[in-house]
Amino acid sequence: MSCPAVLSPHATGDVSIRARDWQTQLKCAVTDVDELCRLVGLTRDELPLRHTSLIKFKFKVTHSFIARMRQGQRQDPLLLQVLPDDQELDQAVGFSADPLGERAVNPVSGLLHKYHGRVLLIVTGACSIHCRYCFRREFPYEQNNPGTLGWQQAIDYIRCDPSIEEVIFSGGDPLLANDERLASLTYAIADIPHVQRLRVHTRLPITLPARITSPLLQWLTGTRLRAIVVVHCNHAQEINQEVVDALSLLRARGVTLLNQSVLLRGINDNADTLIDLSKALFSSGVLPYYCHRLDRVTGSHHFHVDEAKISDIMRAVHTALPGYLVPAFVCEESGALAKAPLHQSWSTSA
Ligand SMILES: *Cc1c(COP(=O)(O)O)cnc(C)c1O
Ligand code: SF4
Repeated sequence: MSCPAVLSPHATGDVSIRARDWQTQLKCAVTDVDELCRLVGLTRDELPLRHTSLIKFKFKVTHSFIARMRQGQRQDPLLLQVLPDDQELDQAVGFSADPLGERAVNPVSGLLHKYHGRVLLIVTGACSIHCRYCFRREFPYEQNNPGTLGWQQAIDYIRCDPSIEEVIFSGGDPLLANDERLASLTYAIADIPHVQRLRVHTRLPITLPARITSPLLQWLTGTRLRAIVVVHCNHAQEINQEVVDALSLLRARGVTLLNQSVLLRGINDNADTLIDLSKALFSSGVLPYYCHRLDRVTGSHHFHVDEAKISDIMRAVHTALPGYLVPAFVCEESGALAKAPLHQSWSTSA
């Protein structure tokens, strides 16, 4: 299969690629920074890319996502989420490869059991785009790839623990697995009487909306399990008509839609941006769920927002929006029983 060259110098993301099925779009994802530069009208010299060949976590982004970036904007909030940066090579104090201690809550291959009542399955390590701040960028996916047959161990684990009411498909991006695999996993889970809910943590409705197909809706909504899809969107500019259409397909089948975002310096670290995001999400049928403080994973220190600023942002968002449009601001602490709420000062004179 070939990925056609861009036809127009003004095209942001290739329209002919975006019109194709999701697997083809995925194969045509841009993995060459020079190609991205060409598509968004920037030159490599303007960007902090001198040493990025040393970075293990490779560059990757879909044409669909590129199409929502603005031309010639070095500070575009979508561009900044995927563009490698020399600062990723810095060794910052307090940052590590496994900041959440996840390797300690990994009882069987592919399964994380950290919180009461729910388990997380690492369905695949692959992603449609590589977010530079990703907390799983250092996760040992090779050791957590049970393969098609290996899921039996995870299923048995869930079956043997009646406290587990919810199974979360995570990754990487679980929706990059094919529908046959996802369907057989879902049917096996639906067969366990104490499981009530199936949750999918995915960025694909945002980064590759063509992934929302009828075979997907079939397994997702075709069992007795209540389906929840938690998307990951950090900025209102990520939501275009293509995204709205994909989300509508899910909504029409009764899927509960939630969003998690990450507070990122230079991308969404101000109240107006987060307020616009909540409104744009609600207009697309999605409620804000979590807004995460960034985990301290190696290579992400340049995205960190300081505590005082986070507190100001939280206060401004709380006072500007109805409660149901305010995400829970949380962080993850190694060993904690749930995601921890971030505290803010409510002093009105501040
Ligand atoms: C975040 C997370 C969950 C889900 O937590 P909720 O508060 O239910 O959204 C489950 N397992 C792990 C390992 C997690 O990191
Ligand atoms: S889509 Fe999610 S898991 Fe994948 S790189 Fe981005 S933040 Fe990480």
